[in-house]
Amino acid sequence: MPPISEEQITEALAGIKLPDSKGNLVDLKMISGIVIRNGNVGFSIEIIPSRVEEMEPVRKTCEEVVRALPGVLSATAVLTAEHQAPKDSKTRHAAAPQNTNTQPAPDLPDVGAIVAVASGKGGVGKSTIAVNLALAFAAKGQRVGIMDADVYGPSMPRMLGITGQPQTAEGKKLRPMENYGVKCMSMGFLVDEDTPMIWRGPMVQGALEQMLRDVLWGKLDFLIVDMPPGTGDAQLTMAQKVPLAGAVIVSTPQDIALLDARKGVAMFQRVDVPVLGFIENMSYFLCPKCGDRSEIFSHGGARDWATKLNVEFLGELPLDIEIRETSDQGKPIVMSNPDSAHSQAFGAIAERISDQISKATGDLLPPKIVTL
Ligand code: ADP
Repeated sequence: MPPISEEQITEALAGIKLPDSKGNLVDLKMISGIVIRNGNVGFSIEIIPSRVEEMEPVRKTCEEVVRALPGVLSATAVLTAEHQAPKDSKTRHAAAPQNTNTQPAPDLPDVGAIVAVASGKGGVGKSTIAVNLALAFAAKGQRVGIMDADVYGPSMPRMLGITGQPQTAEGKKLRPMENYGVKCMSMGFLVDEDTPMIWRGPMVQGALEQMLRDVLWGKLDFLIVDMPPGTGDAQLTMAQKVPLAGAVIVSTPQDIALLDARKGVAMFQRVDVPVLGFIENMSYFLCPKCGDRSEIFSHGGARDWATKLNVEFLGELPLDIEIRETSDQGKPIVMSNPDSAHSQAFGAIAERISDQISKATGDLLPPKIVTL
């Protein structure tokens, strides 16, 4: 089958009219940013912010129409007001952060606790922690998935040592990839690694919803979401779009990273997502030759701030060459060296996360971890 073209998509969308207008969406210049990746289609519908609610059915119709085209595996349309009012999304969040979710949370009855692993800035080891925590849950017999929402720098395919592309199954949904007993979906599977990705905020949301909704996750106890770094509008919107049980914030001990981590706490609190705790990564360095401990980025800052902010301190991981080498080689330490002290530390953190979720969600308890 020939690949779907932008013209075909535009033509199909030209058949959709606004409820109160004679013009169609294409003539009214409301469609923009059409992206096609291996049969997965994304685009934006530009609207006037005050019309968000009445435009939601139009958005759904657009998705259905495009999804029905031959050669289309999935279609994600997002409403955006960027062109008409560039600052609008910010003001909307500021005015009413909790109820701006115009697209209902996807119905995911088979997915247990969805846990975001977030960081105020990049490079602090968020993805490394996310993958090792997922493996720690899996090692305790839990059914686990990772959704790599770090669309700007998806690293899960590499960290889980997965190559290839997800296949479609019934209902045009994608089957997640899997390795070491962990299911995974990542934009890294769908776009070329070498293609520079220029994402506008609404497209990021679209990709996220698609990874959540259009993937056959099956039954999961935990879905770990590797968030994009930062605490901007895109992250805030994502935190609203995904029915999160809670968020874990990874920081290194330096003041500057901790300042960003604090912004992360504020962000999640603003959208009513429980902060399950802080993890301090690269907390200290043990010299492999002499065993001497050096606190390269100072130490303990995350614990101090956890106390000050009244959030749980979940644990710390040292700066260690084995942690780096194993995750960069696609064999994270919890899988490749499960008896190491670091793997045990990940296991203990996973248990604390599980406890925190139980506390945060009351009777909606995820399955209790039983140490084997
Ligand atoms: P982020 O997701 O925050 O951008 P990554 O998880 O991609 O960060 O980590 C950035 C780099 O730091 C990677 O090369 C990773 O292997 C390395 N790294 C992460 N945590 C540690 C650690 N505790 N010790 C040594 N290297 C680490």
